[in-house]
Amino acid sequence: MATDPIPSPVLSHEMVCEAETAVEALFVCTDEACGRRVVVGKGLPRLVVIDRGEFSVRHAGSLGGVVIDDVAAA
Ligand SMILES: [Zn+2]
Repeated sequence: MATDPIPSPVLSHEMVCEAETAVEALFVCTDEACGRRVVVGKGLPRLVVIDRGEFSVRHAGSLGGVVIDDVAAA
């Protein structure tokens, strides 16, 4: 019998769009203690981390057609 590889709940933060241009959007973590900030490209799959925040926490967010799920990024 296989054992569950995830023994405890995975921490997760939600990111919201704070500013955007025609080509990219700035996402900020809603957890003030974390402070993760990333810039996500709209046309190209690009993600630039400005502030790493809590690196071990899963971050996800969305804005219109832009969806970020940077669990494995940067
Ligand atoms: Zn966070």
